[in-house]
Amino acid sequence: MVHFVGAGPGAPDLITLRGAELLRRADCIIYAGSLVNPALLALAKDGCTIYNSAEMTLEQVLDVIRSQEKQGRETVRLHTGDASIYGAIREQMDELDRLEITYDDTPGVSSFCGAAAALNAEYTLPGISQTVIITRMAGRTPVPEREALADLAQHGASMVIFLSAGMVPAVQAALLQGAYIENTPAALVYKATWPEEKVVRCTVGTLARCGVEHNITKTALILVGDFLNTTSYERSKLYDPGFTTEFRKGSQQ
Ligand code: SAH
Repeated sequence: MVHFVGAGPGAPDLITLRGAELLRRADCIIYAGSLVNPALLALAKDGCTIYNSAEMTLEQVLDVIRSQEKQGRETVRLHTGDASIYGAIREQMDELDRLEITYDDTPGVSSFCGAAAALNAEYTLPGISQTVIITRMAGRTPVPEREALADLAQHGASMVIFLSAGMVPAVQAALLQGAYIENTPAALVYKATWPEEKVVRCTVGTLARCGVEHNITKTALILVGDFLNTTSYERSKLYDPGFTTEFRKGSQQ
């Protein structure tokens, strides 16, 4: 059996209890070495075989899994953050279905949650935005045309841009074609939750300059939206004394 496991954003204690237990039990671990914190490999038991998928193709990953299965050994496929976000798990799962190898998936803390935590930010501030757009800039991997960053930017929603720290000037230009203005708050978060984490607060107008000044070109998220710097949001209904919920009677009818 194969267990897909989300490793979390970096700090080794941000893996789930379930994920850590699966790592301890694994006979084989294939980890995404470009971003998974290698400290997590310390959980592996003696005799566990470890592979770094950063140096492997999909075919090689599948070959390893197939050979482990033949020996009756369990594999953990360790992905960074949560595997459902840019994790390339679907193509593995489809092949495993074809090979009749069973698998399950243990979620992880995605880096977009790690970055929000680093900024003490709430993406969904009432009266500001109730939507988080998770996207990336088209690079060597294309993005469907209808999802062009400039078009998504028309909503002015809270936005998290993955895999684009090497293209910050183009990100900035696309954002400005949408509903964001030069003064819209933005942030670059490099290696959220790692010891070398860098958090740079800026605006859409200064994004590109800040990227250069702080030498951030990879392993970073770009966060954009008024949620980052506003005091004008509305209080939540959930904790409003006047508001009745399923669990609590409010003072207003
Ligand atoms: N599945 C992962 C994302 C993998 S794509 C997740 O859920 O987070 C790789 C991209 O994620 C990187 O280029 C970067 O944009 C972002 N990323 C991953 N870990 C990060 C971290 N700790 N801090 C900031 N960005 C991170």
